[in-house]
Amino acid sequence: MKEIPYKIYLEENEMPKAWYNLRADMINKPAPLLNPGTHEPMKAEELAPVFCEELIKQELDNDTAYFPIPEEIYNFYKMYRPSPLVRAYCLEKELGTPAHIYYKFEGNNTSGSHKLNSAIAQAYYAKMQGLKGVTTETGAGQWGTALSMACSYFKLDCKVFMVKVSYEQKPFRREVMRTYGASVTPSPSMTTQIGQKILEAHPGTTGSLGCAISEAVEVATSTPGYRYVLGSVLNQVLLHQSIIGLETEAALKKYDIKPDIIVGCAGGGSNLGGLISPFMRDKIKGDLDCRIIAVEPASCPSFTRGKYAYDFCDTGMVCPLAKMYTLGSNFIPAPNHAGGLRYHGMSSILSQLYDDGLMEAIAVPQTQVFEAAERFARVEGILPAPESSHAIKVAIDEALKCKETGEAKNIVFGLTGTGYFDMVAYEKFHDGLMDDYIPTDAELEASFAQLPPV
Ligand SMILES: *Cc1c(COP(=O)(O)O)cnc(C)c1O
Repeated sequence: MKEIPYKIYLEENEMPKAWYNLRADMINKPAPLLNPGTHEPMKAEELAPVFCEELIKQELDNDTAYFPIPEEIYNFYKMYRPSPLVRAYCLEKELGTPAHIYYKFEGNNTSGSHKLNSAIAQAYYAKMQGLKGVTTETGAGQWGTALSMACSYFKLDCKVFMVKVSYEQKPFRREVMRTYGASVTPSPSMTTQIGQKILEAHPGTTGSLGCAISEAVEVATSTPGYRYVLGSVLNQVLLHQSIIGLETEAALKKYDIKPDIIVGCAGGGSNLGGLISPFMRDKIKGDLDCRIIAVEPASCPSFTRGKYAYDFCDTGMVCPLAKMYTLGSNFIPAPNHAGGLRYHGMSSILSQLYDDGLMEAIAVPQTQVFEAAERFARVEGILPAPESSHAIKVAIDEALKCKETGEAKNIVFGLTGTGYFDMVAYEKFHDGLMDDYIPTDAELEASFAQLPPV
């Protein structure tokens, strides 16, 4: 058997040339987006005022398995990809486990996360359409950062609505975005009608992702030459993120490794959906026997405690309805330090796979996540993002189970990013000031009661 190196790199020319669309191989397709007025499936022409044309085609295509990656995007990927698949030898030793642990590290670019994989694709298609710019929302700031980088590369204007509480608490992220030339507005703002309405109803609110989406969509649809882009949840985003899974598959194949367990954190589902895509295809075809685990915060448990139903994607109810595991569009999660995992809903693709019993989900409280983050950081030499640390937590738990049973399972997890902008969260953890708020059943029921009747 070949000895496995600490880092399994692919050569530049081994990078996948096409994205993989898992929907083509799903037996039960994800439910379509619905028009919020008529409850009929959204047609391409209805989406055209909001999204870029090529991206709409990708969004609605359940049949084409492979989409060639355009050369300009491929060349951009070459600056920071292929990303390494790391064998966590040091963590294995620390845990004393016979399991083999691997992680796919997506934090090796300035934006610090996997989000750049889709940001550059979306900016490219906007540019090809001859647009002036794009609008978006950002919560913790990772998506806004990635999109600002991508827009500056293609010389597009970028208007970011940043959830007000993050705008105030994360000034450094805001400045990174401005360095790349983006304009950043705290949301809710007085610059949009929906922002004014929300502020009137909830004076002093510190905002939410749902509010920021409504504002970004309003600006995109009312400004000529602009469209709206989104960093997670949508089918097109999972398509772009399939690069993570395809590279992981190629790296594992080099050493004849078959994964037994694949773990990823799940906010809107884009990194996990991308990571698992080729493995889920094999699982659906009966060629791979592998557990797939989504990890979410106990404070925002869309899979484990949500309802599988049509819901609004935003607070202002201007977006199409999506069928997904959801906590309700009015659900505002308790302040959790994994800002990228606070969305109320989940990708329609992953929701369908979960409903079909093809994957599992686990919710974990945040202090345990930070314990795992610290344990990992101390031996593996990477300071992980709080979001990514949800996956670390469950990968460690599975490795410790292997210690009990003596099984040498192959555990693969997605390490989506670095945590340098999250040091306030680490500080709270170190000072014992971090809480583990978990929503009550009554809170969730109140939110479910407001789901649209579809
Ligand atoms: C945004 C983000 C996530 C969660 O988003 P998904 O769409 O669920 O992948 C996870 N990790 C990091 C570092 C992020 O920035």
